[in-house]
Amino acid sequence: MIESVEIEKSLSLDDYERVVHLTQAVRLLREQAARLVPELAGRKVWMVNSTAHGGGVAEMLPRIVSLLNELGLPTEWVVMGTEETRFFDLTKRIHNLIHGEGDPNLSAEDREVYERVSAENAADLKQRVRPEDLLVIHDPQPVGMGAILKREIGMPFFFRCHIGLDRDGPQHEAAWSFLHPYVEPCDYAIFSAPEYIPPFVAGKAGIIAPAIDPLSAKNRELSAHELAEVLKNAGLAQSSHPVVPNDFSEQVTRLDHNGRFQRMDEETEIGIPFRPIVTQISRWDRLKGFDKLLEAFVLMKQGIGKKALSEWQRRRLASVRLVLAGPEPAAVADDPEAVEVLEELTAAYRALPHWIQPDVALLSLPMGSREENGLMVNALQRCSSVVVQNSVREGFGLTVTEAMWKQRGVLGSRACGIRQQIRDGIDGRLVEDGQNAEDLSSLLAEMLEDLAGRNRWGQAAQRRVHEEFLVFAQVRRWIEVLADHVRP
Ligand code: UDP
Repeated sequence: MIESVEIEKSLSLDDYERVVHLTQAVRLLREQAARLVPELAGRKVWMVNSTAHGGGVAEMLPRIVSLLNELGLPTEWVVMGTEETRFFDLTKRIHNLIHGEGDPNLSAEDREVYERVSAENAADLKQRVRPEDLLVIHDPQPVGMGAILKREIGMPFFFRCHIGLDRDGPQHEAAWSFLHPYVEPCDYAIFSAPEYIPPFVAGKAGIIAPAIDPLSAKNRELSAHELAEVLKNAGLAQSSHPVVPNDFSEQVTRLDHNGRFQRMDEETEIGIPFRPIVTQISRWDRLKGFDKLLEAFVLMKQGIGKKALSEWQRRRLASVRLVLAGPEPAAVADDPEAVEVLEELTAAYRALPHWIQPDVALLSLPMGSREENGLMVNALQRCSSVVVQNSVREGFGLTVTEAMWKQRGVLGSRACGIRQQIRDGIDGRLVEDGQNAEDLSSLLAEMLEDLAGRNRWGQAAQRRVHEEFLVFAQVRRWIEVLADHVRP
């Protein structure tokens, strides 16, 4: 069933334009909108996806939707849904297949479930849309309903796919041949990298790079004072000093040696912001590569006594801690794979040598408030010496963009989405093979040692995000694509 997502009232373009380093980007956007939005007069854009919370798409949509509205193009975000759990099990499988993982046999029954749920949702949305409106379908879950609406009322239909794989294989092929009948009728398909475009839409496909909102709770600058407040109020650091704002509505919890998430106290806190921290924040997904990162970190710690190190190197490696953070278990209870990954990581943590356990923090981030969750991620990234994204596969990886924007030293795997953002040795470092714990461990140690390098990569990274991956450029591209397709 279709549900509208209310966009919280937030910043206006004037607010962005006032920030000196954003002024130019906002002006360019306004100029372009003044030229092209009149061509779209009388139409409304419908953004459709399958979740209002969690993951990169739900992260980006609120800002895109509110900017399009402000620029005079009425836009609404709706989420499809169903009671049939089999539908989301299937679309999760399709998601993994597009990333090259899983059993490629999709059955006639799978198709029947997919088409039934697509038809129900299409019937629901059909009550609200008009033929001249523009339908933007995000990712494979709602693409079936997109094809139905196109067939039944002929509205322009755009497929925006945020995932992809840069190589062929039976899984990948199975997923695209399952989706072919639903994607084929689209007027235009948009991907995050050229490598992801399946051959059957090649003649009508283009690229829009994902992007971040530089003034969101997750990405905005935090003064030293605000940072201290967030750390304290989120339960990430202890302090006996009074802090003016109240505690957050929910606190970060840390896995203890019994495998339970508990609030931190003086004894169990991580040592932020004093110690060097290596951080990865992701959904609990096997393809995010948490397990190898943990293994690499342990190797690095175990190597301290075995290598000839200067006093500084030894002190740095001895004090560094690893933070692996993701959504609280309650928020992923309906995602069997996330539950499994969290269980595996919990088991791996409990099996660590006792002396290493204090140096590894598995954190559960409350998801109840988008604002508070954003501030937690923001503070964790800003307090990190190295932000890692060790994904086995990554469509794009907004966590990388977020850390680059904050001038962090980013260590990425060579997954295609990460390669779109980081050029090795220029805006960060890419590990040769993120599935090889030795490789990962030595690059991590190297980056921790190289403060000058981290500063240099961080500056280049921020510049790159500024030029290519901020929401203003993305909205410009959207307006261009939409206008191009309604022109007679
Ligand atoms: N994220 C978050 N809290 C978490 C884990 C992830 O806010 O506990 C955010 C993260 O900051 C990023 C998004 O979720 O903005 C993940 O997007 P990405 O493109 O990295 O990966 P996806 O989840 O879409 O595969």
